Amino acid sequence: MKVSRARMALVMAAAIFITLVADAALAGITFALPLELMTDDTEGYLQLVNADNLFDEATFKKDLVPLKVRTSGGSEQRLRRVASRALTDLFTAAEADGVRLYAVSSYRDYATQRALYYNDVKNNNGVDDHSTQIPGASEHQTGLAVDLVSRQWLGRALTAEFAETAEAQWLAARCADFGFIIRYPKSKERITGIVYEPWHLRYVGEEAARYMMDKGITLEELWMEWYLYLEDNAL
Ligand SMILES: [Zn+2]
Repeated sequence: MKVSRARMALVMAAAIFITLVADAALAGITFALPLELMTDDTEGYLQLVNADNLFDEATFKKDLVPLKVRTSGGSEQRLRRVASRALTDLFTAAEADGVRLYAVSSYRDYATQRALYYNDVKNNNGVDDHSTQIPGASEHQTGLAVDLVSRQWLGRALTAEFAETAEAQWLAARCADFGFIIRYPKSKERITGIVYEPWHLRYVGEEAARYMMDKGITLEELWMEWYLYLEDNAL
């Protein structure tokens, strides 16, 4: 079959157009962090743990070590090695700025979280008011999350008012430098499912922490960005 020059030109133009569209789509959604952070997260630093993504104990790297920072006393507190080291650096920097912090809650095993949850429900006349995460949904089970407060807030029920303290403001401004994020930010309750918790820090690594804190996004949103990127680049 003889193909006319005009038709050939049209086919060529169409081919170029399709290539351009595909390129535009490829260039459309980029991902701000090195891709390996998401694809090769063998340490679980970016692992998403919430009510929809329960913590799988089988994936837990049991490299827990005792904290070397000021704690609220009582029983020994532990975090995974990398988070504990980062927390020591954070405390040192805080101290240099005249900010005195206390670690009040860190690693919790499944049984502890379970006991906390059922106690809370019992004390609330059998109703789950969502003040304590269901077992499996707490980031404290990962050994990468820690609650930090000031001296004045020791022993107090934690509320969003803690955000007004100099300690909380220092944490919000500086935590990313040590690889931590404020995991449950203000106005993100609908995304995280958790009220504003200016005291709850989660270790994610410095690069991811800086990105999330600068951009004001949560870990849920980082994963959303990742899935959008994957979808867009699966052409
Ligand atoms: Zn917490």
